[in-house]
Amino acid sequence: MNLVVQKYGGSSLASAEAIKNIAKKIKFKIDKGEKIVCVVSAMGETTDNLINLALNITDNPDSRELDLLLSTGELVSSTLLTIALRSMDIKAISLTGTQAGIFTNKSHGNAKILSIDSSRIWDELNRNKVVVIAGFQGFNDSMDITTLGRGGSDTTAVAIAAELNADICEIYTDVDGIFTANPKHVPNATKLDSVEYEEMLELASLGAKMHPRSIELGLVYKMPILVASSVNDVPGTMITQGDNKLSNKTVGEVRNRVRGIATDENISRITIHGLNNIPGTATKIFEPLSLADISVDVIVQNSGNDGQTNISFTIKDSELTKTKTIMEKICSHIDNASFTYDTGLSKISIVGTGMQDAPGYATQMFKSLSDANINIEMITTSEIRITCIIKQENTGEAARILHSSFDLD
Ligand code: ASP
Ligand code: MG
Repeated sequence: MNLVVQKYGGSSLASAEAIKNIAKKIKFKIDKGEKIVCVVSAMGETTDNLINLALNITDNPDSRELDLLLSTGELVSSTLLTIALRSMDIKAISLTGTQAGIFTNKSHGNAKILSIDSSRIWDELNRNKVVVIAGFQGFNDSMDITTLGRGGSDTTAVAIAAELNADICEIYTDVDGIFTANPKHVPNATKLDSVEYEEMLELASLGAKMHPRSIELGLVYKMPILVASSVNDVPGTMITQGDNKLSNKTVGEVRNRVRGIATDENISRITIHGLNNIPGTATKIFEPLSLADISVDVIVQNSGNDGQTNISFTIKDSELTKTKTIMEKICSHIDNASFTYDTGLSKISIVGTGMQDAPGYATQMFKSLSDANINIEMITTSEIRITCIIKQENTGEAARILHSSFDLD
């Protein structure tokens, strides 16, 4: 018998009507003889609303209390879905993250799952029940409730699927799958039938936003993940290991090695000038940022021949105010150092495991952008990705140009 872990996102559970529809979908699977574990997100905008309630009381809500507050969102949806299933005479039970045995570290607001004791889940499955688990939450060694970070229900689902050794983890959401580009920028973007874990990690900012840790877990445990619509009955996108690396070695094979175009808007760049080119300089700058939980992305260091160096890096626009304060402090402690910044930038990437060991992609990308008179502000690459920082106003045009240049249209 197939064991399937399904996850339903908040938009799929936004009303009583929507919850009843999901229950019908589950009944359909049960009638086919599948065993179902269901992981749910909070209904609609619940999590945002709870956060705002706390922020209306104080700018800096206590992290333990905030986690317990946020965890209630998923309790509402898991119990309502279970009530819906039972009203249809389907045996079902809801479990909190704690009852489901999801043990995490202590990091409130961004906890990592350390282990899962799945005995209760198995007990209920063996009683032929649908097990509905509140996503996004677990408990730590003080028996306090923790949450896994925004969007964390994806990670709950994949972790549970891996722990139960399920046949598949199905993520149901409000888009039809993963697209070759964000349809907002590229109207003729198409849905991918499949994508590899590594590619999905890079593409995570496309059509279906997924919690990156869920993809990492899928990769580690080789858990097939299906991303599909909870409403439209169309095939979604399978995230799997794929065979690209193998076929890469096939001499003379022709196929499209760029899988998709990823775009990420609202980026700012900071440049620090007048740094001494000596060991420890980068640490002085990036340590305070990481302590402040600011995630830094593209980093470029230029060294001049006068023993001086500049370092540029990008951050999300939303972190700019915090970052500027930290930079002012850092520069006040280093002679001659100063910083400048610009906002309104975006990141555009071509992604595909097939690009490994295959030259020419970077040149084609840069040429396509320059033919359209789009200036490249910064460049960075990984084995399966080439990223350019450009002006945000050029994002749509650049995405369309690259989509057609790399034959994705
Ligand atoms: N409800 C949580 C959030 O909105 C977790 C999730 O949706 O996966 O971030
Ligand atoms: Mg969500």
